[in-house]
Amino acid sequence: MGRQAFIDAARCDGAADCPPRAHCPAGAIFREEEGPYFVGPGCLGCGRCLAFCPLNAIRLV
Ligand code: SF4
Repeated sequence: MGRQAFIDAARCDGAADCPPRAHCPAGAIFREEEGPYFVGPGCLGCGRCLAFCPLNAIRLV
């Protein structure tokens, strides 16, 4: 199985204008109401989101 992005909920501030979400080609970054974001099963493992997170909350696992 390929790698997937993982968002550290302790680092993510759940900002409404999340840059990684805006740049994810798969639309795989979600959140529940005001909580932190998480990565869904549609993640392609491309790693694009990592460069856009200002809080360094995303890594590939
Ligand atoms: S690794 Fe790629 S597909 Fe997966 S959440 Fe990040 S930008 Fe989206």
